[in-house]
Amino acid sequence: MEKTEAEYEKDIEEIEKMFPNAKFSVAIEIEELDNIVTDETDIVVKNTYDCYCYKNKRNTEYFYISGKHITNKFIIYKLIEQGLDLDCDHRFLEGFCKSKDSNCQFEIATGS
Ligand SMILES: [Zn+2]
Repeated sequence: MEKTEAEYEKDIEEIEKMFPNAKFSVAIEIEELDNIVTDETDIVVKNTYDCYCYKNKRNTEYFYISGKHITNKFIIYKLIEQGLDLDCDHRFLEGFCKSKDSNCQFEIATGS
């Protein structure tokens, strides 16, 4: 069922309260935050900063994350802890995509 504008805004507020220290905006649906991203217990999340704002200006960063239940929320907390800073036009974190050749490497999907 489609959410109303008000419900949608309430979710955004709720999400902001969950991650007060984030230097990026979480654009993952609130219902999906507890989804398990992978059954692996040790993963690497890669941020290539390959959007036009950073073109060739920032090196790829790797975030190492370990846990028994790696959910979207868990990864986000770890990324905040490890200082992920999406300081550009693409500060909306939309999710994590598994890399093609690896089961334990994920890339951050961002949007504006
Ligand atoms: Zn950007």
